[in-house]
Amino acid sequence: MGERSLLIIGAGIGGLATGCYAQANGYRTSILEMHSGPGGLCTSWTRNGYTFDGCLHNLAGSGSGSPFQKMWNELGVVPDIQMHAYTEMVRVERAAGEPLKVYADLEKLGRVLMRLSPADAGVIAELIESARKTSRFDMLGLAVTTPWERIKALTSALPLFMKYGGVTLEKFALRFKDPFLRQAFPTLMYDWPQQSLLMLLSFLAGLNHGDLGWPVGGSSALARAIERRFLSLGGEIQYHTKVKSILVEGNRAVGVTLSDGSEQRADIVVSNAYGPATIFDMLGGRYVSRSIRRYYSAPEPHRNGTSDRFWHRPHVSRRTPCDRLAARSACGDRWRNPSPPLRADFRFRPQHGAGGQMCRQSSAAYKLRAVDRSPSHAGPLPGRKGSCGPGCHRPTRETVRGD
Ligand SMILES: Cc1cc2nc3c(=O)[nH]c(=O)nc-3n(C[C@H](O)[C@H](O)[C@H](O)COP(=O)(O)OP(=O)(O)OC[C@H]3O[C@@H](n4cnc5c(N)ncnc54)[C@H](O)[C@@H]3O)c2cc1C
Repeated sequence: MGERSLLIIGAGIGGLATGCYAQANGYRTSILEMHSGPGGLCTSWTRNGYTFDGCLHNLAGSGSGSPFQKMWNELGVVPDIQMHAYTEMVRVERAAGEPLKVYADLEKLGRVLMRLSPADAGVIAELIESARKTSRFDMLGLAVTTPWERIKALTSALPLFMKYGGVTLEKFALRFKDPFLRQAFPTLMYDWPQQSLLMLLSFLAGLNHGDLGWPVGGSSALARAIERRFLSLGGEIQYHTKVKSILVEGNRAVGVTLSDGSEQRADIVVSNAYGPATIFDMLGGRYVSRSIRRYYSAPEPHRNGTSDRFWHRPHVSRRTPCDRLAARSACGDRWRNPSPPLRADFRFRPQHGAGGQMCRQSSAAYKLRAVDRSPSHAGPLPGRKGSCGPGCHRPTRETVRGD
């Protein structure tokens, strides 16, 4: 059988990874990307010597012992990209008094919590002990382990699941007597109080192992590394190439129609674009089950830390004081909040970034970034609708090929 052709819509991390594995398995692969570069949501940029990371806080598998390492190696991310292991996960400050520094080292974290509130010794001991127990199995790594390893890990995790299954950060925080801990604890996971305590425990466990770090150079460096691997495997990427619809013959996807009206055909078409764009726009809503319709008609906000609704109804969905502060520093005076009681740390790390500076935003700023990337805001920034700005020109299509 001859080489089979594959078209992938979207050069985000999913599209690039699919392309790498397809090329490695003998497919002739072309990725169609409407933007000018790789990465999709996984993006970062530099301004005046600072690297602004609009995506990755914590990369699963950055630690050398993680089961994800094999995959990152196959995708050309390691060893090329150096991984930074955090010593601190997040910091919550207040107007006066010691901040809550959530250290990756569980012992150190226990000591900080005890110093902040000796009266909460019981809850603190339970939290640290539970994080230690979570360290014994890698919950985030389960996705890339064998079914047997998964069963073993899930069996040993069962008591924790039973105990904390329905416990959110907000709910657990009520157990602290100290008012500052009560207020700070729900913000620890991306300012998302409804996040499950189990997720925080997984993060604490991962960080304690030296995992969930940050790729030095930022999200775009990671995307560029996978793009390089894809091209070195002989793949092709067509940038500034927007897919309008998926061509279907006999209920089989056989190619795509581009926004300029031209067609491209292939044996297999994979869409790694956003779900509703693929299902309702590119396929015209012809292949929809009741559950798909229900899922997209009322998606849970913050299902994955960002809202599915960005695509259709860009907004900053929840504004805690921390959000407002982050939004203000990222976007000037768009939101004003003169005296926020809490603040998520921005983690300036002088040792990183192009000009020796590195700035990480907290979640609201990330959400704003996602808003800027939504179709209704593509091109001109919000507030400048319709005008492309001085020096702006319509991009022309560009193809990048591997050797
Ligand atoms: C703010 C934020 C923070 C995050 N933090 C983390 C983190 O710390 N750790 C972590 O692991 N993950 C994190 N994620 C999640 C992670 O970034 C995403 O899950 C991942 O990047 C999604 O990749 P993707 O390829 O599936 O989709 P996308 O990145 O959305 O890629 C889709 C691509 O398709 C292109 N496209 C869409 N429509 C068309 C079309 N019609 N024609 C051609 N091209 C098209 C788009 O331009 C885009 O490049 C974060 C996400 C966000 C938004």
